[in-house]
Amino acid sequence: FDPVMPVTTKTTCPYCGVGCGVKAELSPDRRLKVKGDITHPANHGRLCSKGTALGATFGLEGRILEPKMRNGDGFRSATWDEALDAVAQKFNAVIDEHGPDAVAFYVSGQLLTEDYYAVNKLAKGYIGTANVDTNSRLCMSSAVAAHKQAFGADLVPAIYDDLTEADLLIFSGHNAAWTHPVLYRRIETLQDQIRVCIDPRRTDTAKNADLHLMIKPQTDVRLWNGLCAHLIARDALDHDFVDRHTSGFSRLMAALSADDQSVEAVAEDCGIAVADLKRFYDLFLHTEKTVSLFSQGSNQSTQGVHKGLALINAHLLSGKIGKPGAAPFSITGQPNAMGGREVGGLANMLAAHMDFDDASKARVQRYWDSPAIAPKPGLKAVDMFEAVRSGKIKAIWIMATNPMVSMPDTNRIREALEICEMVVVSDVIARTDTMEMAHIQLPAAAWGEKDGTVTNSERMISRQRRMTTLPGDVRPDWAIIADVARRMNSAWDKAFSWRTPNDVFQDYVGLTTFENNGSRFLDLGGFAGLDNAGFDSLTPTRWPYAKGKQPAGRLFGDGRFATPDGRARLIPPVAKAPANLPTEDFPFSLNSARVRDHWHTMTRTALAPELNRHTSEPVLDIHPKDARRLGIADGRLARVTTPYGEAIAKARVTDDVREGNLHLPMHWTKQFAPFGRSNQLINPAVDPTSGQPEFKHTPAQVEAF
Ligand code: SF4
Repeated sequence: FDPVMPVTTKTTCPYCGVGCGVKAELSPDRRLKVKGDITHPANHGRLCSKGTALGATFGLEGRILEPKMRNGDGFRSATWDEALDAVAQKFNAVIDEHGPDAVAFYVSGQLLTEDYYAVNKLAKGYIGTANVDTNSRLCMSSAVAAHKQAFGADLVPAIYDDLTEADLLIFSGHNAAWTHPVLYRRIETLQDQIRVCIDPRRTDTAKNADLHLMIKPQTDVRLWNGLCAHLIARDALDHDFVDRHTSGFSRLMAALSADDQSVEAVAEDCGIAVADLKRFYDLFLHTEKTVSLFSQGSNQSTQGVHKGLALINAHLLSGKIGKPGAAPFSITGQPNAMGGREVGGLANMLAAHMDFDDASKARVQRYWDSPAIAPKPGLKAVDMFEAVRSGKIKAIWIMATNPMVSMPDTNRIREALEICEMVVVSDVIARTDTMEMAHIQLPAAAWGEKDGTVTNSERMISRQRRMTTLPGDVRPDWAIIADVARRMNSAWDKAFSWRTPNDVFQDYVGLTTFENNGSRFLDLGGFAGLDNAGFDSLTPTRWPYAKGKQPAGRLFGDGRFATPDGRARLIPPVAKAPANLPTEDFPFSLNSARVRDHWHTMTRTALAPELNRHTSEPVLDIHPKDARRLGIADGRLARVTTPYGEAIAKARVTDDVREGNLHLPMHWTKQFAPFGRSNQLINPAVDPTSGQPEFKHTPAQVEAF
C-alpha cells in the first residue's frame, strides 16, 4: 500500500444511500476540506449537513490504531500476527468440533463492496456456512424480498432522474427530507409536482407535502391494497401491460375482493379522512408519471415484504414502471447496502444475486473452485444473535457495525455476546458498546484511508478513494479477511491472494459474467480487465453494464423482468396486525427512526459540533392528549417501558405523532445517553420472509419521571 497524497481527491460520501460525490482536499496535518463534486450524477455538487461536516470527523480522535486482545477486564496491545492467528485458530477449532455453522459473520452496509465480497467468499465458499448477515437486514431486506418476488431478482427499476420527471411523488414510510436530504433537495423546489407522504408521523417530508396521510401504524398494506382494488374497480388498469408483462392477476383480484375495499372502509382502518384517501387514489389514478419511494418506514415491519409488494402491485397494474418518471423506488439507508446485496451480503443470497438453488450453488462453486459451498441459506441477523445466545454459534466476527446499539432488544445481544466463546470486532472506533464485548479487536481502515467501490440507491457504482496513508497499524477489511483465510488453511492461499482492491473487484466482476447467458441482470462485464489505473480513475457507472454494452438506465422499459417467464408477478399481499399488539400494560405504539444530522450509532457524527446542535439528545415525542392525561410536561423527563427494557428521555409534546403513539430516535449509545437508548426497548419480532425487525412498532407504556 504505497502512500498517496493528492491535493484533491474525488470520492463518495460514507453516510447514506444517496451516494453523493465529494471533492476532498487534505492538508499534510490531516485537516480535510470537503465540497460536493459537481461532476457526480448523484448530487451534482450538493451535500447535506452530514456530508459537509465530513472534515470535522476525519481526525484520529477515538480511533483504534492497533490490534488488541482481551486481558482480564481490559485489553492489551497485540501484533497482527498474534491477533489473526488467534482468530484463525479459534475458527478452525470451532469448525472442527461443531461444524461450519458454529461460526458467523455480522457485517455492515458501511463496508466497501470488495470487503463484502471477501467475507462472503470466505464464509460461503471456503468455510461452507452462509452465516453471513449484514446490518442492511435492519433497513431494506424487506424491499429485497419484495423485488425478488415481484421482479424475479433484487432489481431497483428507477433512477434518480425519475424523481424530477415525476408529476406525482409518493413518500411511503420515507422521511426523505431528513434521511436522504440531497435527493429531497432535487425535488423540493419543483413547482408543478404533487407530493404525498404516507407516514404515522408528521415528519418534515410530511409537512412539506401537498397531502399527508397520517395513517395508523402498520396499515400500509391495507392502504395500498385499497388502491389496487380502486384501480380495478375504476377500470384504470393498463390492460396491455398487465396482459403481456405480468402474471397472477386473477389470484390478486380474488384476494383483494375478499375484503371490503371501499374507500370508506379502508380510510377507517387506516385512521385517516375519507376525502384524503379519495384524493390520493384519484391522484394516483390520473397521474401517469408517478414514483413511489419506500424506505425504512415501510420495510421495518413484520409485514415489510407485503408492504413493498402492495406498492409494487399498484405500479404494475397501472403500467407505471420502466418509463421516465414512473416506478416503485426503494431507497436504501446505507452507503453500500446495495453493493452488499450484490455480492451476497445477506445470509439468504449467494454472490452476484444468485440464490441457494442447486444450479447457482454449483456455478458459484465452479467459479471459486471452492472446497465447500454453503449448502443452504444462513441465519438472518436476529436469528443469528439468538443462535449465539443459545450457544449454537460459538464464534462471531462483527465488522463495521455496532449491534449492541443498533439491533432490536439490545439486552439480548449483550447476553449473546457475553456467552460467546470468541467475539472478534473489526472497526475504526476504539470505544463502542460492541467493541467492549470483543475478545479480539481489529483496527480497520476508515473512510479516506482505503480504496474500493460502493453502489448507491440507483445502482450507481462509485469509487471511495484513499487520500492518506494508513494511520497506525490499521488495514483495509478485505485484506484482514484474506489474511485470516490464508491462516485458516494454506490451501486457500490462491483464492485469497488479492494484492489490490481492484483484484477483489475483478474477482467479483468475473462472477457476474460467469456462465451468464443474459438471464441474470447483474452483469458487470464492462469492467472486466480494468487495470489498477483504470480502477483508480473509474467514474460513476450504473449497472447492469455488460461487456460491449452501455451502462444501464432505468430497468424494465422493454417489459422484460427477471422471472423465468419474463413477467412480473402480482402477488397478493395480506394486511395483518403487527406481531405484538398493545396491551393494557403496554397500550402505546413506540416508533423509532433517525434524526437529520446523526448517523447510526454516532461514532462519527458525534465528533462534529455542528451536527450535535440539531438534535443534541434523544427526545420522546408524545401527543398532547396523552401527555395531559399522564401529567407529562413538555421538556420534562418521561420514562418509557416495554417488555424488553426502559429508557428515560426528555418529552416533546407534539401532535406530530398520533394519539397513542410515541417516537424515540435510535442513535444514542451508552456513552452519549446511558438512559435514553431506544433499541433496548424494541421488540425483536421480524418479517417472516425478510427477517427484518419491526422497529416501527413496539407496545410500550410511558409515565412522567
Ligand atoms: Fe452524504 Fe447522504 Fe448527505 Fe449525500 S445526502 S452528503 S450521501 S449523507
